[in-house]
Amino acid sequence: MRTTIKEPATIEGIGLHKGKPSKVTFLPAEGATGYRFLSPLFKEPLPARLDRIAGTVRGTNITDGANTVYTVEHLLSAAAGLGIDDLDIEITGEEPPAADGSALPFAQALLKAGRKEKPDQERKTLSLTGQLEMAKGDIRFLARPGLGVSFKLTYDYPHKLVGKQTIEFLLTPEEYLVRVAPARTFGFSHELEALKAAGLGLGGSLDNAVVITETEVLAKGGLRYADEFARHKLLDLIGDLALAGLPLKDIYIEAERPGHAANVNFAKLLLEKAQNQ
Ligand SMILES: [Zn+2]
Repeated sequence: MRTTIKEPATIEGIGLHKGKPSKVTFLPAEGATGYRFLSPLFKEPLPARLDRIAGTVRGTNITDGANTVYTVEHLLSAAAGLGIDDLDIEITGEEPPAADGSALPFAQALLKAGRKEKPDQERKTLSLTGQLEMAKGDIRFLARPGLGVSFKLTYDYPHKLVGKQTIEFLLTPEEYLVRVAPARTFGFSHELEALKAAGLGLGGSLDNAVVITETEVLAKGGLRYADEFARHKLLDLIGDLALAGLPLKDIYIEAERPGHAANVNFAKLLLEKAQNQ
């Protein structure tokens, strides 16, 4: 059976890339409608799906042609990580709040809203019967049938304070909340100027991102995990895969050096090759 939330829940703040005030209200969804963004400015709800992707530079953006919602991945990661299938997301502004740079505030809001089961609605899932691989340069993905939904993700960056980090993770709502949701987004100080010149990261600060300089890691309260970077990449991957529109089932996924563009391409391949059950 499908799930949604019981009560509305709201989060306010400023968007990471656009730097503008924003408010998101999670609302229960009656139908089997997946994740949808709603706004008085939209003619109709904007489904968070692969066929609506507008961009994958430093975040994943979706559009209906007239309206775009930027940086949807952390919010979607929280919903998918907690096993919520249907969610209406009312948004003011064009980007959800950056919150603390992680998915934890979204996950906490969803938990506060409560999970509601919909016994009369069938839950279709995405699974595989064989192995699937995708590679481009040093980016590599692999998926095969598994027990439960599990990941092995490697993040690798040539910097003495980062290096290679690998996280292995079996997805359950409880484990997601403790091991993945709190991992914050991060950036390298040498990229920040170019990012701002491109109109991105305008709301970014040490309140909502970890910044890595040549000599130190600037993280409010210190890093939350020694491998926080790999965990955040996993958080992003779970959010981007949610755009497939079907929850994963009994699948093992390996990802090396993933990013939003590769995540989305992999989600498309997965959807194309998977059995919908
Ligand atoms: Zn992220």
